[in-house]
Amino acid sequence: MYKRPDRRRLLAIRDRLRREYGRPVLHAHHAPVDELVLTVLSQNTNDRNRDVAYHRLRERFPSWEDVRRAPVADVEEAIRPGGLAPTKAGRIVEILDALAGDDLSWMAEAPVEDARDYLVGLPGVGRKTAACVLLFSFGRHDVPVDTHVYRVGTRLGLFRPKASFEEAHDELLRLTPEGDAYEVHVLLIRHGRRTCNARSPRCAECPLRRMCPEGRRRLGRG
Ligand code: SF4
Repeated sequence: MYKRPDRRRLLAIRDRLRREYGRPVLHAHHAPVDELVLTVLSQNTNDRNRDVAYHRLRERFPSWEDVRRAPVADVEEAIRPGGLAPTKAGRIVEILDALAGDDLSWMAEAPVEDARDYLVGLPGVGRKTAACVLLFSFGRHDVPVDTHVYRVGTRLGLFRPKASFEEAHDELLRLTPEGDAYEVHVLLIRHGRRTCNARSPRCAECPLRRMCPEGRRRLGRG
């Protein structure tokens, strides 16, 4: 039966994962528009293709304003190696149009809720993308929940079974102390990639197996 976790539980998970994978350190890059464009480019492709598409776009257009004013077909051509180029080009230009030259630097100081509300009001931008911009660009307190974080968090009982992504974001934010957002995000992703895989999690060798409801069930101890 699901029992809503408290912060101590998240910190116990964090400490074990920290011993396993080390302690990641955030270097906020202060380039929020780049982060938004990268997130669009990352959909349905791997990091390498995303980066090739991004670098071609930056090479071809000196500024985001140039991208905004360019024919969409030229943007599409630049980002073709990232896949889904027509859709992604349209979305990038839509976002740049909605920003209308706003460089988002005000988000470094604004109340984080106001910054989040603004971001999720942009075309196609959801909670995860907003959290990526706030955390990676400015080091603000928000925790992106991607598919790895969602899967690992659900198995560990951090989220209600079948919780929406929106609810999972709210829960992880509630559980995570200020200053720990980046570490929690990165450690859960590392664990999802290396041990708690989608299809065949390696529960028998997982450092969290004694505190994981799903692991105990899979190992026949539940
Ligand atoms: S015990 Fe299994 S299900 Fe639980 S976190 Fe570890 S690998 Fe994932």
